[in-house]
Amino acid sequence: MAYDSNNIFARILRGEIPNDTVYEDDHVLAFRDINPQAPTHVLVIPKGAFISMDDFSQNASDAEIAALVRAVGSIARDLGVVQSGYRILANHGRDANQEVPHFHVHIFGHRPLGPMLQRE
Ligand code: AMP
Repeated sequence: MAYDSNNIFARILRGEIPNDTVYEDDHVLAFRDINPQAPTHVLVIPKGAFISMDDFSQNASDAEIAALVRAVGSIARDLGVVQSGYRILANHGRDANQEVPHFHVHIFGHRPLGPMLQRE
């Protein structure tokens, strides 16, 4: 599958669609989710064109991977969710209902987040 350069996060990265940025560096952009599922719900994305975790983990440089992981930790600290707790989540593909085909990590916090997964 080829990267779709018109996906919504690619358009955010190009500045074509506004976003509520909470963090940015050379490799990473993080912004608030437009449809938050917790009082704090932030998306952390690489600036590079990666479809999902599978693509990112195979094809991103060590610097890009390190930057994303460091950013997630740093953003969580800045959001003030370390003490109360937070959840990170990345959906890959159909079974996980990945909606946007640009790799992203969700950060949820500021409420009790319930069980890890809904049971069947
Ligand atoms: P996923 O199902 O993991 O692909 O999650 C995609 C997420 O992107 C959802 O939580 C959406 O609410 C969020 N989203 C979609 N469009 C935007 C947007 N323009 N700005 C911020 N978040 C968005």
